[in-house]
Amino acid sequence: MNIGVYPGTFDPITHGHTDIITRSLRVFDKVIVAVAPNPGKSPLFDVAERVEMVKLATKDLARVEVETFEGLLVHFVRQRGARAVIRGLRAISDFEHEFQMALINRKLDQTVESVFFMPREEYSYLTSSIIKEVAGLGGTVKDFVHPEVAKRLRQRLRRHTP
Ligand code: ADP
Repeated sequence: MNIGVYPGTFDPITHGHTDIITRSLRVFDKVIVAVAPNPGKSPLFDVAERVEMVKLATKDLARVEVETFEGLLVHFVRQRGARAVIRGLRAISDFEHEFQMALINRKLDQTVESVFFMPREEYSYLTSSIIKEVAGLGGTVKDFVHPEVAKRLRQRLRRHTP
């Protein structure tokens, strides 16, 4: 089976992430969304909440599994019998970081390939950070995230909204 691992912080999952998952399912038999705790990024949601939201947002997509992972990504990819790391590429700004990650992962394990998908244009400027910023200022994010994610953002950021 051709398995791809899609790693990320997903704090929280947006339609941009879901778009990448949908596209990657055209190429892979199974996609494992691997949610990294990433404490260094001071996430708004803990890892269990992020996993739950990814599960909700992908519940209608067959062939998707959601897990957390710690440690080296290439180790996780191997353990799951996968061949590839899936990443999304937005505007040019993602390129440098993604290029670096892909090359370091290749150095760590030559057998793991990184593959990149481009999202729909309307999601190409979407980041979890901008969503948190807009929601924190009381703006509507319903066009960009699953309704349950929007609800949780409102609850979590309530103290900031007018
Ligand atoms: P990380 O902390 O690993 O960058 P993210 O959750 O921010 O975690 O992103 C995971 C992956 O999804 C990255 O490859 C990122 O470029 C991609 N991604 C995030 N948002 C979008 C989007 N709107 N369109 C396409 N790819 C995206």
